[in-house]
Amino acid sequence: MTPPPVDEERPVECPGSTPIARALHDELYTSSLDCVHCGLCLTSCPTYRATGRETSSPRGRIYLMRGLAEGRLEDASLLEEEAFLCLGCRACETACPSGVHYGEMLEQARTIVREQATDFSAARTIERFALRRIVPRPGMLRLVVSLLALAQRTGLDRLAARLLPERTAGMLALAPTVPPEVERRCMPAFTPAVGTRRGRVALFEGCVMPELFGRVNDAARLVLSRAGWEVVVPEAQGCCGALQAHAGDRGFARGLAERNVDAFAPLLEGLDAIVVTSAGCSAALRESPGLVGDGARGVATRVRDVLEFLDETGATLELSPIPERVCYDDPCHLVHAQGIAAAPRRLLQSIPGLELVAHRQPEACCGAAGIYNLTQPEMSAQVLAPKLDALIEAAPSIVATANPGCAMQLASGLAGRGVEARVVHPIELLEAASRLAAPSA
Ligand code: SF4
Ligand code: SF4
Repeated sequence: MTPPPVDEERPVECPGSTPIARALHDELYTSSLDCVHCGLCLTSCPTYRATGRETSSPRGRIYLMRGLAEGRLEDASLLEEEAFLCLGCRACETACPSGVHYGEMLEQARTIVREQATDFSAARTIERFALRRIVPRPGMLRLVVSLLALAQRTGLDRLAARLLPERTAGMLALAPTVPPEVERRCMPAFTPAVGTRRGRVALFEGCVMPELFGRVNDAARLVLSRAGWEVVVPEAQGCCGALQAHAGDRGFARGLAERNVDAFAPLLEGLDAIVVTSAGCSAALRESPGLVGDGARGVATRVRDVLEFLDETGATLELSPIPERVCYDDPCHLVHAQGIAAAPRRLLQSIPGLELVAHRQPEACCGAAGIYNLTQPEMSAQVLAPKLDALIEAAPSIVATANPGCAMQLASGLAGRGVEARVVHPIELLEAASRLAAPSA
């Protein structure tokens, strides 16, 4: 498939006659015209690099969206296939000189093809059930994670991995070891600042983070407090909706985003920032006006990734040495969706004794991409492989990354290669260094 020459482009008033064509035309046709087919994004696209196919590139996918919207293409099945083969990593946005909002167009296209779909596979039904009925419901998610913990403790998970089909067993292998109960408890609603008070921040907890990465949220709470910030954790907050939006369920994601706007908006006066530890969540919260409308702007503009916030406010922490060799790996939703790359490195470099080692593939997608490693395991493994090669070559004792999905994917991949490096969030290293320096904090 070859894209049309630029000079043939002009807005088309009359879209194709199918419901998908009309919806694509209404939702994203104007945005699609920003793409001038230059192709500068192609080599940054993991699925294009893996397949060499134009249709598996950002330019090709935009062309499919536009072709359907204009009625030049009629069969939407290729768009559906390619939209879900896309990782949503947004490396193409970083590369694009025309400012194409590819991530939003992708979510819109996925939602449209899913809404118009007539065949519902068992896998898709399970996925939608999990994303609507389990992930955003803390009680249900806690129950599922507790069952996983029980299976891991009794060895049932290993037995199941031997009995289940290879693909399902592969999904089980991606599950991280459930942390001890003490790390899964609720965070205190209020933590005072240590020393001179600089202001107040609200901590966004997320859905998966409290269950599987409670230690990361707690590390953020402690470091912020030691840096002089009061930390509040509003009870009314909930799942950010990123996974649902990425899966083509923007309507459901909108409801979750509205709930968070309602939870944080009344607190904005007197709040310096809404601090987030998961890159996927901070990107979604920042972009919530695209889902909810202008009413979300007050909350969205106050959102900061925890590393970005500590860096821009000049964290004044006493830090003890951590003599480790650390590779930082950029989560796509931090570096490409939010443009944050230097802050995590600066903070890590501020820890005495820590050797920050570069590796060859820091900004390449790891293949986790929300639940992509479950829905597209082959391509996910293909995308992950060069990243693992680069990390193994750099030989760190610790890999630091700032998103839970990336942490699970890298930990599982490194373990699969027999590498013993720990995978942690950078805030955990800052917490350890500041705790050692100030044991009474
Ligand atoms: S989001 Fe990532 S995988 Fe998808 S088109 Fe852009 S670069 Fe390629
Ligand atoms: S770099 Fe931007 S304008 Fe160029 S082909 Fe890619 S998406 Fe289109």
